[in-house]
Amino acid sequence: MNSFSRLFIRSLSSLSAPPKICIVGSGPAGFYAAQHLLKHTPEAKIDVYEKLPVPFGLVRFGVAPDHPEVKNVINTFTKTAQHPNVTFIGNVKLGVDVKLKELQEAYHVVLLAYGADKNRKLNVPGEELSNVIPARRIVGWYNGIPEDKDLKIDLKKSTVVIFGQGNVAIDVARILLTPIDVLKRTDMTQHAIEALSESQINEIYLIGRRGPLQAAFTIKELREILKLPNCKTTWNLDDFVGVKDVICNLARPRRRLTELMLKSLSESDLNQKNKVFKPIFFRSPLKINKNNVVLGVNKLINNRAVLTDTKEIINCDLIITSIGYKSDQVDSDIPFDEENGVAKNIDGKINEGLFTTGWLGTGPSGVILTTMSNSFGVAERISSEINSTRLKNKAGSDYILGLLKMRNVKVIFWEDWVKIDRYEQDEGKKLGKPREKVVDFNKILEII
Ligand code: FAD
Ligand code: NAP
Repeated sequence: MNSFSRLFIRSLSSLSAPPKICIVGSGPAGFYAAQHLLKHTPEAKIDVYEKLPVPFGLVRFGVAPDHPEVKNVINTFTKTAQHPNVTFIGNVKLGVDVKLKELQEAYHVVLLAYGADKNRKLNVPGEELSNVIPARRIVGWYNGIPEDKDLKIDLKKSTVVIFGQGNVAIDVARILLTPIDVLKRTDMTQHAIEALSESQINEIYLIGRRGPLQAAFTIKELREILKLPNCKTTWNLDDFVGVKDVICNLARPRRRLTELMLKSLSESDLNQKNKVFKPIFFRSPLKINKNNVVLGVNKLINNRAVLTDTKEIINCDLIITSIGYKSDQVDSDIPFDEENGVAKNIDGKINEGLFTTGWLGTGPSGVILTTMSNSFGVAERISSEINSTRLKNKAGSDYILGLLKMRNVKVIFWEDWVKIDRYEQDEGKKLGKPREKVVDFNKILEII
């Protein structure tokens, strides 16, 4: 065979090689990207790697247990996972069990969708005290993230201060204020239900550094907390000076949210309620002590919080920081923007064959729908690039699964998840709830 015919045969076989795509992370970003890739590049083989033994990212481990309707997206993700061209490869951590370079050797495209599973820090003295807990870990504790199952959180105290006024802060406040009989019927972990049954928390401050017009929570979430049966909301009237005057200039969602706050401000609640929720604006933490927090009063200059000389103290027992999540560079070969905590990218592309989507690429904000549209966009870009490229054959999961076997990594496949899912639902039924999440890896090994 001369060199021309060798070249001809090679290019023929390369033309027939299906694109092999690896997605790292099985949250909304990963699953929506896979769904869209299947649509635009139907011959692609897609492997979804996940560090946890179970899929779905923050849909399983972030979304509040009393919001079951939000988790319905799992049905769509399940359909994608069951597609014959998609393989779920769980319990494999990028940067630890497998390196980015190895994935790039095995696949034509690597799409990083590993989210943001660290939390930002306030960087004030006292943040390291044992009664200061990031909201991210409390969410993990009640939602069953294995590494948060043993979180020490003393709920036999009365007053909680939460720093940050985003929807995560509201979620945590609502969960701590909701009657236990309601929580018992959700998929909240049993260890959290038991601890919350004995909770003595009756007062929660939600502290924001800017004003009511900049509050990060949204209307639906505020409305829910205002409607809690056993809890009244009280506001600091001084925080609302001048707000009424500007309301007509606000965009609709902000206007409606502000109207709701103003309405709640003027409502007097005559019912007997044993708990109180206290949103407070224009305050920044200066120092955290064991039994109190020292706050600096802010004024707003060009939409930014600027400290004045005035200070205040709030006595409290438990302090929760909820000022945003953060990604990290899990593999030194990922070009990473430390300052903004995202993988460096332009419209999802990092460099040749390497892409990112979801919170890792955009930063940790936005709801599932926002993540979906980002993933669809990045997937379309990937499809248009690979559909117009001649691809050489690559080994895909054959190579990576071989490496993982050599490294004694116990891989969890979709069939294993199906067994875990069934087990969790059966255990849940016994307790009158949708599922009881398995939080112990040894138990998972027993089930599969
Ligand atoms: P994630 O959902 O975090 O998925 C990333 C996945 O990557 C995870 O499964 C993670 O385990 C995996 N991973 C991480 N590191 C590695 C690694 N090294 N190797 C392999 N895999 C790895 N939005 C709504 O619309 N409604 C809500 O009610 C709602 N509630 C929320 C509650 C909380 C507490 C939070 C934090 C967010 C909430 N959101 C909600 C927002 C929503 O969850 C996000 O928009 C979405 O999950 C972001 O998707 P993602 O795939 O980028 O990240
Ligand atoms: P977020 O919405 O960005 O809110 C972060 C909060 O922390 C803001 O109030 C912010 O104030 C404050 N903050 C940041 N740095 C601070 C500092 N150094 N000192 C004091 N305060 C500081 O983040 P999140 O609550 O983590 O939510 C992340 C995303 O998930 C959001 O898009 C959210 O809507 C979404 N989510 C949705 C739901 C839902 O739909 N039910 C539930 C949970 C989460 P500034 O505004 O002043 O920066």
